[in-house]
Amino acid sequence: MASKKTSPGICYLVGAGPGDPGLLTLKGKECIEAADVLVYDYLCNPEHLRYAKPGTRRIYVGKKAGDHTLPQEEINALIVQLAKEGKTVTRLKGGDPVLFGRGAEEAAELHDAGVKFEIVPGITSAIAGPAYAGIPVTHRSHASQLTIFTGHEDPTKPDTSLNYAKIAQADGTKVFLMGVERIDEITTQFLKHGAKPETPVALVRWATHTHQQTLVGTLADIAAKVKAAGFKAPAVAVIGDVVTEREKLNWFENRPLFGKKIVVTRTRQQASGLSKQLTLLGADVIELPTIKIVEPQNPMLFGELVQDCHTYDWIIFTSPNGVDAFFTMFDKLYNDARSIGGVRIACVGPSTAERVKARHLAVDLMPDKNFVAEGLVKAFKDHQNMENVNVLWVRAEETREVIANELTGMGAIVDEGLAYRTVAETEDNLEALARLKAEGADMITFTSASTVEHFLNLKVALPEGIKIASIGPVTSTAIKEHDLNVDVEAKDHSIPGLVAAVEKFWR
Ligand code: SAH
Repeated sequence: MASKKTSPGICYLVGAGPGDPGLLTLKGKECIEAADVLVYDYLCNPEHLRYAKPGTRRIYVGKKAGDHTLPQEEINALIVQLAKEGKTVTRLKGGDPVLFGRGAEEAAELHDAGVKFEIVPGITSAIAGPAYAGIPVTHRSHASQLTIFTGHEDPTKPDTSLNYAKIAQADGTKVFLMGVERIDEITTQFLKHGAKPETPVALVRWATHTHQQTLVGTLADIAAKVKAAGFKAPAVAVIGDVVTEREKLNWFENRPLFGKKIVVTRTRQQASGLSKQLTLLGADVIELPTIKIVEPQNPMLFGELVQDCHTYDWIIFTSPNGVDAFFTMFDKLYNDARSIGGVRIACVGPSTAERVKARHLAVDLMPDKNFVAEGLVKAFKDHQNMENVNVLWVRAEETREVIANELTGMGAIVDEGLAYRTVAETEDNLEALARLKAEGADMITFTSASTVEHFLNLKVALPEGIKIASIGPVTSTAIKEHDLNVDVEAKDHSIPGLVAAVEKFWR
């Protein structure tokens, strides 16, 4: 008999975790990075897909209850076929792949087809969901045993594989998935089989996501509460005394910005810092880039100035984008870091300085506070006589002339390097725009006058009651020019300063 030939492809059955982008395992991430094809589900956070290398094929296969994008047999056939073509297939599933995830069935198909596979466990919603609601599934005082069951089966059907008498009478905590729609039947079965009506129950919807919702009740009243609140799938349900721990342990929903939907309007590249800090404080962030950074009109001219950078006394950076544009050009022109010479470096504020420091270059001058052009001018005034001092100012094409005017007034010779241009983002924000229109938001943040202008050019109506946060006075002026109110203005005109002001506002 011919021996079974193993194909060179492989399929990784990977648990993508319950939703929080941080709850993906390192191995799971490696499998995404290695993939030629990603096959993923409804409950798998699409944010994970960005780890894929460029050109990786992405196939969405559903499945929300009742809305099977691709039937299971076809999913099985698909991953087998792709792996047989020699591809590295990463099959991403919400939570853990073998806890109510049909991962075992897919693995069996791969085995039968002679395809190599690996199972990469994930963090399951069954345990992480309750934990993010402040509910431990076991606890020395309450529960030394855990039962996890599916709520998908109709308990009144004679052929159900679940024995509710046994589940209801089992000690410890019970968790069920896929059961919101059947909450009435399930609690009725528990009560029928002797469970105490006052037993605490919690449902955690979109657990570990920034828009997580939790509903707490008892076996007697949770079904009515679900109905009244219009509480819907996906949710994990937890039954037992451990639910009472939530009174003390509800860490996730008690973070300062939890439940607040906040719009970030910076460029996609710059948004991540602000988004991350807001998310860490619990906010649900809508990244809606309104601008993007592109080459200046005349890159040659900028290149010539960068080439001569070592001949200046000072280089002034007034934005992180300027630093990036400068060093991108510098690296094209030189392959020795020392080519920058002994020129001193001034920065308008900490974020800009951070970018310079990332190049292992020291920042010689920065305002103490007031991180705007005027602040930097004052810092120069206090620092030295500027008579005949040669300065290269690395700037955006569209920016206020304060630095050039004031320093020239002080006797300096200022060359202006037009390093980049800010233009409207037209493609990368369509999804976010749809979300903003559909869901509204509690707050919108502006980090420059150009984000204000470009946001308003989009002509989306601001949701009613939305609060406006500004990074500083220049941005605030731009907001007020459009007859809008500034509800929050950062004291420190920096991203951490803005985050602190936003946090204080909602506290
Ligand atoms: N393999 C998954 C479960 C798949 S079954 C895991 O280990 O988590 C699908 C059910 O999982 C949903 O109906 C819901 O009950 C639950 N679920 C998955 N992710 C969830 C989340 N983020 N929040 C709440 N419930 C979730």
